[in-house]
Amino acid sequence: MVLATRRHDHAAAHARPERPGDVRYPRGVPDAASAARIGAEDAPDRLLTAELLSIGTELTAGETRDTNAGEIARSLTVLGVRVGRIQALPDDLSTVGRALGDGLDRAGLVVCTGGLGPTPDDLTREAIAEVCGEQPIVDPALEAWLRELWARRGMPFPKLNLKQAWLISSATPIPNDNGTAPGWWVDRPDGRLIVALPGPPREMRPMWDGWVLPRLAERGLGREVEIRTLRLFGIGESQAAERLGDAFLRTANPIVATYARQDAVDVRIAAVPDRERGQTAADVAAEAEAAVVERLGEHVWARGATTWQEAIATELGRLGWRLATVETGTGGSLVALLSGLPHLARAEVLGATDLDPGALASAARQAAGVDVAVAVRAAERGGDTAVSVAVATADDVHRERRVAFLGGVQGGHRAGLAAADVLLRWLRRRQV
Ligand code: AMP
Ligand code: MG
Repeated sequence: MVLATRRHDHAAAHARPERPGDVRYPRGVPDAASAARIGAEDAPDRLLTAELLSIGTELTAGETRDTNAGEIARSLTVLGVRVGRIQALPDDLSTVGRALGDGLDRAGLVVCTGGLGPTPDDLTREAIAEVCGEQPIVDPALEAWLRELWARRGMPFPKLNLKQAWLISSATPIPNDNGTAPGWWVDRPDGRLIVALPGPPREMRPMWDGWVLPRLAERGLGREVEIRTLRLFGIGESQAAERLGDAFLRTANPIVATYARQDAVDVRIAAVPDRERGQTAADVAAEAEAAVVERLGEHVWARGATTWQEAIATELGRLGWRLATVETGTGGSLVALLSGLPHLARAEVLGATDLDPGALASAARQAAGVDVAVAVRAAERGGDTAVSVAVATADDVHRERRVAFLGGVQGGHRAGLAAADVLLRWLRRRQV
């Protein structure tokens, strides 16, 4: 590859980016102007679709987990950009080049992470240059910046690192305050965009949040989108899907989907404005949420990303109460679920016992000197787990029985969830 040099305004490229807080992202909050915005947000030059490439043989060999793409995908999705594809690729020039070209055929934005290191196997710059039909050149300002990083430690500059000073003429360097690999922001003549960032997350993250996102927002990206998540317990994913119905789960707007998570079945609603019906994204989402609540309301225990620990903390905080827990046969899953709960004064994990959970809860409450205690006893029965839960206060012992799906560790985990669910519902009914 022939290298030439080119002048470049290094100071401008490395100027502090504006704080992300200064930037107005499209939001799903309904307001008077939102109807008027609906048209503008569909303007053809906005970046509405993206593809993500995670580059590095360590990823395809399974030695490093790709966390970058998930993080970037989440931040694009909440801004209303549809991420059409995420790919992990080995350090192979033709593979990366082809994926880049294909990505640009389909999406307005292609974000690469990785492959910006100094070694010959780091080929992202070469691949982008090839796709753009441009020659990389050593950028004098980047070279001076790099040389200074070594000079200030009194070390000789390694020749290998010179390729981290490369640019092509359509690329703007993205400053990296935490490493030696500047990123590339590459504007394509057809309005599409390539963003390349280094692989190490501690370098990638601040560059994405602090430099790239504000510029993407300026450039115009995404559309108004409203995302709502309802968290369910006590119903399986397929049963929830059945109650919601096929037609409801197949609409293009809103997109409604169910997800079986460790701690809940989530129903996620993602809505964009419906121009024909004059509805904002929030209107569309609210309608869908009402429909979900109508069909599954009794199973909804939280919204958004709320955890059991947070939901229970809210209720204990409201009541001004402290809690004790006792569990047997759960593998300690209840205390694991509540770990970090500031109101938790005492947590016991017992060996197998036939003692009545009501008696266990009352004893634990008194021993800990707290307002409320929950006890759960789990025992495998016929492949599933029989769960017995009691919530004890000074004036009441409330008991419930449930059957948790599967036995063993899974059943024990679900027994802990069942106890959290019984406790949360009981606390919510309780007046101060
Ligand atoms: P790079 O030199 O830019 O190819 O990235 C080097 C290092 O960044 C790798 O050895 C990994 O430790 C880390 N890394 C690269 N890609 C990813 C990714 N997609 N997710 C998380 N870490 C990554
Ligand atoms: Mg690499």
